[in-house]
Amino acid sequence: MTIKVLGYGATKVKANLAPLHFQRREVRADDVEIEILYCGVCHSDLHQVENDWGMSHYPLVPGHEIIGKVVKVGNKVTKFKVGDIAGVGCIVDSCRHCSPCEHGLEQYCEAGFTETYNGVDPHDHLPTYGGYSERIIVADRFALKIPKGIPLEGAAPLLCAGITTWSPLKHWQVGKNSRVAVVGLGGLGHMAIKLAKGLGAEVTLFTRSQNKSKDAIRLGADHIVLSTDEAQMQAVKGKFDVIIDTVPNVHDINPYLATLSLNGTIVLVGYLGPLDPFVHSFNLISGRKTVAGSMIGGIPETQEMLDFCAEHGISSDVEVINIQYINQAFARMKKSDVKYRFVIDMQSLKQDK
Ligand code: NAP
Ligand code: ZN
Repeated sequence: MTIKVLGYGATKVKANLAPLHFQRREVRADDVEIEILYCGVCHSDLHQVENDWGMSHYPLVPGHEIIGKVVKVGNKVTKFKVGDIAGVGCIVDSCRHCSPCEHGLEQYCEAGFTETYNGVDPHDHLPTYGGYSERIIVADRFALKIPKGIPLEGAAPLLCAGITTWSPLKHWQVGKNSRVAVVGLGGLGHMAIKLAKGLGAEVTLFTRSQNKSKDAIRLGADHIVLSTDEAQMQAVKGKFDVIIDTVPNVHDINPYLATLSLNGTIVLVGYLGPLDPFVHSFNLISGRKTVAGSMIGGIPETQEMLDFCAEHGISSDVEVINIQYINQAFARMKKSDVKYRFVIDMQSLKQDK
């Protein structure tokens, strides 16, 4: 059995997003049904609509930074009750029993996790559709508890931008004595600054946009380096233990390798594709440096990050928009004109009813 849901989606590659109806499953025994209040706009949504990664299926309803109210629970659900505020990120299912799943690393599930949109539900084989929509139905194991105290619109981006930067910061043991740099001040970048700062690190931002400097300091950065300025890049040679690189496009990472300290690691979370130009091995060998990657984060660490944010007063800086503005928001995101995450007020969808 399925239910009809209204959302905004693309019916073909690069199409403008427009209202469309689609089917979701009915609530199963371990499911919650969530009426969506806010949904963040991730650069991955844009990549997927434009089929940048060559794996998009249409119609495609994006959105994996979802906050909403639980309106129905299956008869085996104990984690949530009707009326609770819940979150859904990028993962709505996984095999649940392989070693990564058992260790709370569902994003590395050996069978592949089920994406919130552009995926296929492993049980009923229905396509998955994201949070630019009225409601979502998800197994309670993959829904997050939103602690009190975080503004709901500012909590939505934590479900992807937050966890994608938190997971590598924790894995590479960032703490009080760490020197962290973040490349790119967008959705992921601004969360990386806040979270690294919250963990006690000294934080530097690499940006191409001088006009973002003031904001970066307000967000918690201790230093700003204009990545297009050779002298500024030279001045931070050998400085950073960990760099979180959030750039969404092909770019040269060799200049950033030079800014790593001995044993330093650059973690790529943004760009997906071949590195161009290549990484010169000398840049790794001299200083025992590592180029690494990291994908979102598992469910337990997402909950840990949400609780950390509530405790430290951290949330995303958002520009709340109506769903009808989404195509302009995508155009602005392409120009890096986001301060620092668009979040859709899903009540606006009622205008299309
Ligand atoms: P965003 O809000 O558009 O921010 C990206 C920032 O990168 C821009 O604001 C800009 O900052 C900088 N930038 C953009 N183009 C650049 C270029 N050509 N060269 C250098 N810097 C550039 O994007 P986002 O939502 O943070 O997402 C960033 C990337 O992470 C996307 O590719 C997204 O798909 C990916 N992502 C990955 C994961 C994962 O699991 N690994 C999860 C979520 C998202 P400045 O103006 O400061 O230079
Ligand atoms: Zn995302």
